[in-house]
Amino acid sequence: MTLLDRNCAVCGARLTLHQRARGPTCDGWRCRERALGHALEAHRAEAAVALGIERPADYALFVVPRTERPVVPLPARRKRRFHAHLRRAVAAAARGEGEAVPAPEGPADVSEGEGGLAPLPEAETRLLGQACAACRGTCCRHGREHAFLGGLRLARTLAAHPEATPEQAVATYLAYLPEESFEDACVYQGPRGCTLPRALRADLCNAYLCAGLKSYRRHLARHGPTPGCAVVREDNRIARSAFFDAGRLRRYEPAAARCPRPPTSSG
Ligand code: SF4
Ligand code: SF4
Ligand SMILES: [Zn+2]
Repeated sequence: MTLLDRNCAVCGARLTLHQRARGPTCDGWRCRERALGHALEAHRAEAAVALGIERPADYALFVVPRTERPVVPLPARRKRRFHAHLRRAVAAAARGEGEAVPAPEGPADVSEGEGGLAPLPEAETRLLGQACAACRGTCCRHGREHAFLGGLRLARTLAAHPEATPEQAVATYLAYLPEESFEDACVYQGPRGCTLPRALRADLCNAYLCAGLKSYRRHLARHGPTPGCAVVREDNRIARSAFFDAGRLRRYEPAAARCPRPPTSSG
């Protein structure tokens, strides 16, 4: 696609200048979806050649959002804020009050959960975890210094461990903090994923599925444990991807995505 292509690559309609600069299609959602499907398949084929993967079509395609934050030592000031949050949550738990957690920032669908869906078998559940690892936990950036933990969650943890004092519960949560985490993301988001055991995580963390993960989950529910190809997109561009199966994760970044973007023509 160049700025000289004047017609939608799918339906053939004449494109405006703005549409030509944005991509190969008109604004029709069917045209955009078809073009995205083609672009994803082309990327998967290109990545498979680079990575020496023989049967790329065996890897279920889905799109995940992009996050690019460095991994840094978890700053003391962030640990202090999280500690203060835990103390407030424990106090709320003692008063029988609800989740003293700020509303999540960012995409509106961050509060969507897996609620109501039948649990998947173990192999499929492991693959879903691999998918999030391939994405590097974009949605976890919203966990900041609260990790979505509130009074109700802390109350459940304390009820499950009646021998523990509230101070011990707080100390347990603090003990799972990683040495290093993604800058300004959830305090528990370490370089190899969440360091907090599932049983201690907020319900939202255990239930949330972004749109891409939902589509992969539907695929797993229908076809069983299938390896995946998570394609990371931002601003309608493919940034990179990761192929994964139960045991292995291989990343690919096209050369074009590593280079600065070319200037766009106004003609
Ligand atoms: S649900 Fe998983 S795949 Fe989706 S944004 Fe969050 S970490 Fe990434
Ligand atoms: S506790 Fe774990 S799953 Fe929840 S937001 Fe933080 S890193 Fe993500
Ligand atoms: Zn079209």
